Formats: sequence, C-alpha cells, structure tokens
Amino acid sequence: MPTDHHEPNAPEYIDTSNNKAVNIKMNRALQALQDAVVLIDGNDNLTWWNLVAAELLSLQANDTGKSIFDCIQAPEFRRYYQDITAHNDANHEGVHMASWRDPKRYLKCEITAFDEDKLLMIYDVTRLQHLEQMRRDFVANVSHELRTPLTVLIGYLENFSDQDDVPPKWQRGLELMTQQTARMNRIVNDLLLLSKIEIEENYELTRIDMTKMLTHVYDDAQAYNQEYGHTIHLQIDTYDGLYGSEMYLNSALSNLVINAIKYTPKGGNIEISWIKTAQGCEFSVKDNGLGIAPPHIARLTERFYRVDSGRSRATGGTGLGLAIVKHVLHQYNTSLQIESELDVGSTFTATFDASYVRALP
Ligand code: ADP
Repeated sequence: MPTDHHEPNAPEYIDTSNNKAVNIKMNRALQALQDAVVLIDGNDNLTWWNLVAAELLSLQANDTGKSIFDCIQAPEFRRYYQDITAHNDANHEGVHMASWRDPKRYLKCEITAFDEDKLLMIYDVTRLQHLEQMRRDFVANVSHELRTPLTVLIGYLENFSDQDDVPPKWQRGLELMTQQTARMNRIVNDLLLLSKIEIEENYELTRIDMTKMLTHVYDDAQAYNQEYGHTIHLQIDTYDGLYGSEMYLNSALSNLVINAIKYTPKGGNIEISWIKTAQGCEFSVKDNGLGIAPPHIARLTERFYRVDSGRSRATGGTGLGLAIVKHVLHQYNTSLQIESELDVGSTFTATFDASYVRALP
C-alpha cells in the first residue's frame, strides 16, 4: 500500500576500500569542513584529523598515536571527555572553552562516541559567545537602570496611599499602581539575581549549614503558608552541608518550596527533605498540588515560561523562579529533576555530588 511516511535512511556501512572515488570524495568533504574533525581510538590516541584540526592542534603528519590530552590540555575538556567515556554516550551539549591558542576566541568541543572510537568536532563559537555576552550585559543593564525610577515610584506611591485625604476616585488607581510597581520590582530583582548568577564566576564559597538554612526556608514557608493552610513537613536526615554560595542556594531552594505552596490548592501536603544518598545528598520538595502536564515539563526552567500565566501573576510569580534554580544548580554541576502528574502533584529534586557535600564540624 502506498504511504507518504518516509523512514530516514542511510547506508549502514560504506565499503570505501573498493571504491576509490567515494573514498576520495569523503576525504575531501571532511577536509573541506570549516570545523576541526579528529578521530580518536579506544586508547584516547589520535587516528585521523582534517586540515583545520591540524592547524588548531598544531599537528604534524607523524602525530598519529599521540594522546588527545597532549593536544588539548584544558581541564574542562578532560572532564567532558571522561564523562563521555564513563557513560559511553554522545553528549550533544559539548563543552565550551577559551581557545588555547588565542584566549579571545571561544571553541566548542563535541564528542560522539561510536564502537570503541570517538569523533571529536571542534567549532569556533566566538561570535555566539559574544552575542550571548551582549544579551547578558543588556539584561543586566536594563534591570539596573530600571531600579532607580522604580524606587522613586514605589516611594511616592506609598506616601500618597498613606494620606488620610486620598480622594475616593484615586484609591483604586493607587492600589493598582502599588500592586503593579511591586510586581515590576520583583521581576527586576529576579532579573538582576539571574544576571549576577550568570556573570559571577568567582562567587564567595562557604560551608553551608543545610540544617540551619532549611530551617529558615521552612520558617519563611510557614509564614507564606498562612493563607493556604497546607501541612508542611521538613525531614532532615543528615547533618551534611554543602560547599557553595549560601545566598544563591537559599534563593533556589526557597523558590521550589514557595512554588509548591503556590501551586497546591488550599489544605495540601508538602514534604521537604534533605537526605544522604550513595552519590552525595539530595534535596526534594513534593506536593500534592496541580501537577504539570508532560509537554510543559522540559520548558519550565526557561525564563518567563509559565503553564498558566494568569495563575502565576495572581500569586505574585515572576516566571523567573525556576530559571534561577536551574542556574544555581548549574554551579553544582547538577540539574533540576521534575516528576509531575496533572492533578496529582509534583516532586522537584536536586541531587548534589559528594564532592560538594561537606560534613560540618
Ligand atoms: P512563577 O513565578 O510563575 O512561579 P517559576 O519559574 O517559579 O515561575 O515556575 C514556572 C512555572 O512552573 C509556573 O508558572 C508554574 O506554571 C509551574 N510550576 C512551578 N512549580 C510548580 C509546582 N510545584 N506545581 C505545579 N506547577 C508548578
């Protein structure tokens, strides 16, 4: 029966040994690429490379068999490479790093593992990196510039609202202006916090006493919970703390807890836990709230992504909370795991590797 459905198709294996023309063409195609291509064997040694790679890695014709780690010494490359080897999979995210030949240029290394071997592609991403930097600077500058006018507006609105002789016809307007400036202020503060987390590389590292921090998060949650009346349970199974930036981590974990409160209908159950695991420690927040339908889950940590904008605004949300969580967790080389079922509830989990876990004295 005719069908308009086409399966992707490619020859599984091209035997080029007997086909010199194909062999030459493939070679020329790889040489013509603008990006560096390197083939690496199971012992991490070079097997083949194209001209761009030869130039970038200063390779000579007799360098076959040289270790890739002698060619690229950046520690982030080694970590990425070992990660791929350990999981034996292709990590399409790749790793970005400053070029070892010209620190003003940025490169992206991407490894695809196949059989025992690996294909390493190196792209020049300098332009992308600059655009990304311009985007970050722009957001940081706009947020910063908005701060002063907003502070003036908020101040005067507070003054006017406090007057005893506010004409009744102004009252509703003043109320709305106060609400909206407060909302704008929350957005600007969250944008500034996000920019800081993104830009700051050498943030202050401290030993974080998780028991103390989570007790604070819990107390704040209880204050916020007044109008919701949920039962909130905090389980701390380990005295282990973390090594990191206290302010950022506090902000991330609070966002997860406040979200659980906001997106759970009144009288729900919320469980916050901090437990030891085989790999390190794990923080999680479980609610029996609205839940999230599968198509939304992968996008929740994007800036301003909301499942229901009306509800988010009504509860004072900025749409930036989970983006902040994502960036803070990135500092710990980890990501947010979200399990959720519509009308059943959600669990947000962050696992921290043992290298970030610190037993407190
Ligand atoms: P917001 O300020 O809108 O809460 P967030 O970035 O914190 O922004 O969250 C993004 C969206 O993810 C929210 O608008 C909401 O739709 C959804 N969400 C977050 N946490 C939960 C939760 N615990 N239960 C259901 N939906 C949630």
